[in-house]
Order: sequence, then structure tokens, then C-alpha cells
Amino acid sequence: MNEHDSERIAGLLEADGYELTADEADADVVVLNTCCIRENADNRLYGTLGHLKSLKDRRPSLDIVVAGCLAQKDRDEIARRAPHVDVVLGTHNVHRATELLSEHRETGKQVVEILEATVADDHEMFPSALPVVREAGYTGWVTIQVGCDNACAFCIVPAVRGPEFSRPFGDIISEVQRAVADGVTEVTLLGQNVNSYGRDLTLRLRGEDGPSLDSTHVAGELWATGDPRARPLFADLLQAVGSIEGIRRVRYTSPHPKDLRPETVAAMASTPAVCEHLHLPAQSGSDRVLAAMHRGYTAERYLEKLAIARAGISDLAVTTDLIVGFPGETDADHDQTLQLAAEARFDGAYTFVYSPRPGTEAAEMSDHFVPHDVAVARMESLRAVVERTSRLGHESRLGLTEEVLVFGPSRRDPSRLSGRTRQNRLVHFAGTNIRPGTYVTVEMTTATTTHLGGELREIVAPAIHRTRIPVAAE
Ligand code: SF4
Repeated sequence: MNEHDSERIAGLLEADGYELTADEADADVVVLNTCCIRENADNRLYGTLGHLKSLKDRRPSLDIVVAGCLAQKDRDEIARRAPHVDVVLGTHNVHRATELLSEHRETGKQVVEILEATVADDHEMFPSALPVVREAGYTGWVTIQVGCDNACAFCIVPAVRGPEFSRPFGDIISEVQRAVADGVTEVTLLGQNVNSYGRDLTLRLRGEDGPSLDSTHVAGELWATGDPRARPLFADLLQAVGSIEGIRRVRYTSPHPKDLRPETVAAMASTPAVCEHLHLPAQSGSDRVLAAMHRGYTAERYLEKLAIARAGISDLAVTTDLIVGFPGETDADHDQTLQLAAEARFDGAYTFVYSPRPGTEAAEMSDHFVPHDVAVARMESLRAVVERTSRLGHESRLGLTEEVLVFGPSRRDPSRLSGRTRQNRLVHFAGTNIRPGTYVTVEMTTATTTHLGGELREIVAPAIHRTRIPVAAE
């Protein structure tokens, strides 16, 4: 989500006449878009701000902007500890970045603007209405929802992003259509809990006279009939986005296991553009730990949901997030996580050693923190299980010829190209002179825990996006 906000801030600045530069010495404005979900985010922010202070001392015209969820959480502290910061804005007013910068320029004063919540029906609050500088012209992130109504004990998101707020259906479709017109062929729908998309729209839009049939809000057949039980579902959105001409791939992140509905599985199965990949964060395999985390499901229920998804969607790859060392986690709890990971046969996992995020419930459980060396040892054992199932998943692709979206030269070996399959598996293969954004087929010949190797077979669809050419002064 933060990376997407960064693209939008860059887009706003570009629309205001700025150009991107890779060298901070050339910059008129430096924007730090913070993420307090990351470990040590505050230390890193103040370290970078210290470095920027010396730059600003030498060149006082440099403007420094701090945005993102750390700014949302620590607004006063940033203003106090770093008076050389010119603008502080939060997660709900990304769209105001250039206006706040102008205000600072006019007044010469530090400008701090933090909104407490997204404002209902103000479409500008979603990054949608804003210009965008996409990192890759052929893939696009599209925000469908901001905030989160859950209360996972380890997570700072509800505090810094506010309650769940779904974006009107029609606005999402319009943004995807605009992205397609720019040459985007793969979209990733973004939200903190995408499967509950539309829950708040029902309450907000139904009103006393039944559902609004305004074209920006109509979603799904039931919704359009005015049936009072209906609400726009994430499944409706998946089908609608997947049906837009020019879209070859639809991905989404992240669904919450407790809200994964049969309709979503059916929509994934019946919409050819929706990729056969499900990232379903499990977090733990211990019911006791899951309850302490307030996750709202048991290990058994998680595995049931996974079985339903695998039964409904053929050739589905599954990845997950897992935390080890949550406060109070015992060896027995950890064994249950290992068991869940083995049974789930994950194709990949982001594994984390728990670390407290100030402001969360779990950060207050310091009496029960797991010693770091114990947590690290648990992480190693969990990684071993995930690597085994991940390797087996990759090996199961050997001999198959699959569609790969080319990202460009491999970082390690520029004589090879890298890309991803529909299952989101990383593939490296020999080749040059193929433009990023091209779809090719590759026969899989080697497998490791992290990627596949293969041989190029044919080009199936050329890249169609425009390439951004940096402007250089003579
Ligand atoms: Fe955080 Fe839980 Fe909401 Fe995900 S579902 S954003 S982990 S509170």
C-alpha cells in the first residue's frame, strides 16, 4: 500500500512540473514515505532525516516531506524532533501533497496536516483520482479499500490507516480501464482485507430507499436488482476487473482467511484473467496463539478454507505469512505451526520473527516476549519446512511450458531474463532483446526452493506500454 502511495505522490509532483531524479544532490524536494509496519522504521527515519539536515544546511531551498503511516502515528514527534522537515502528511491525505508543499513555500513555515480518517464519498481520498508514476508501465496496483476493521494484536495498520473503507465499484473499474489505456496488462487489487470489500458500501450506500443505482456504485447482479440482502462482493469485482478488455492478469492482496468466501473461489475459477495464486496469511498454526492474535479462525478452519480453494481452483499456488515468537508462544505452539505449514504445502512464505510495534496490543505483552535466540531457532525450523514444500512445488512444474510475464534482465545474471508465471513463480531463462512487459512461454527445466529455470519457447504477446525516457539537459 505504501509503495502505491509513493507512486501517487510521485505522480502528483510530476503533474506539478517536477521530474524524478536518482541523485538526492539534484533534488528540490525529497519525500520520505514511511511505513511503521517495518522494523525499526522510526530509527531509520530519524537517521535519514539527520543526513538530510546536513544537505539542507548546505542548500536551504531543499524541501523535505515526510508522509506515510509513521507520520500518521508520530506527527508531533516528527515535527518536534526534526524541525527542518517542511511538510508532514499522513495516510488519509496523500492527495494533498503538492498543496501542502505550496503552502509551506508561501508561508515559509513547517506544515503538518494529519487527517484522522478517510472522508466518506470523497473519491479524492483514494489514490485513484491522482496521477501516477508507475514503477513498471505494464503492471499496476489499484486500491480497492483502505483501512482495516480487524484488530490483530501485532498489527499497527488499524491505528494508522483507520477503519475499513471500500472504494466505489465504478471508480475501480474506471481506474483499471485507464491503466489498460496506458498499456497495463496485469493489475493487482490492493486492500488490507480485500475479501470484506463492499461491507461498508452496503451500509453507506443502501440508505432508506434501497441501493443506489448510480453507475459508480452498482456492483453485481444482485446488488443491481435492489435486493436488500445484497452487497457488492469482492467476487463481483474480480469478475468485472477480469472481464475488462486488455487485462491479461488479475492478482490481489491480501485476503483474510476468516473472510475468504466461496464466491471468491468461484470467481477465481470462472474468470480466466484471475491468476491461480492465493496469498492467504496464516500467521500461526496454534489455536492458542491465533486466539491471542485475534485472528478469528483456528488452524483447522484455515486448512478447510485452503482445501475449498484448492478444490475449486485448479492448479492453485498458495503462499502465506507466518510469525514465530509471538508473545507467549511455546515450543508446543511452534510445533503446531510446523505441522500447519507441512499440511498446507505452501509454495512460499514470508516468515517473520515477532518484533513489537509500539501502539499495538502485543507490544504490551513484554512479560511474555520470547527470547530472541529461541525465536530465531524456531524461524530456522519453519523455513526448513517451507523450503521443502516450496521446492516440491517448483519441481512439480518441470517439463511444463508456462506463460511468463517478462520483468527484464535477471539481477544476478544480465544475460538471462526474469519474469513470473501466473502462479507468481519466479522464472529465469536465457534471452535478451525482449522488452519488459512481454508475455512469453517458457519450458521449465530446473527448480530450486526460490525459482524455476527454463528455456524460452515463444513470444505470445508483445509489451504495449510506453517507455518512460528520462529528460536530460544538454
Ligand atoms: Fe493488520 Fe489484521 Fe487488519 Fe491485516 S487483518 S491489516 S494483520 S489488523
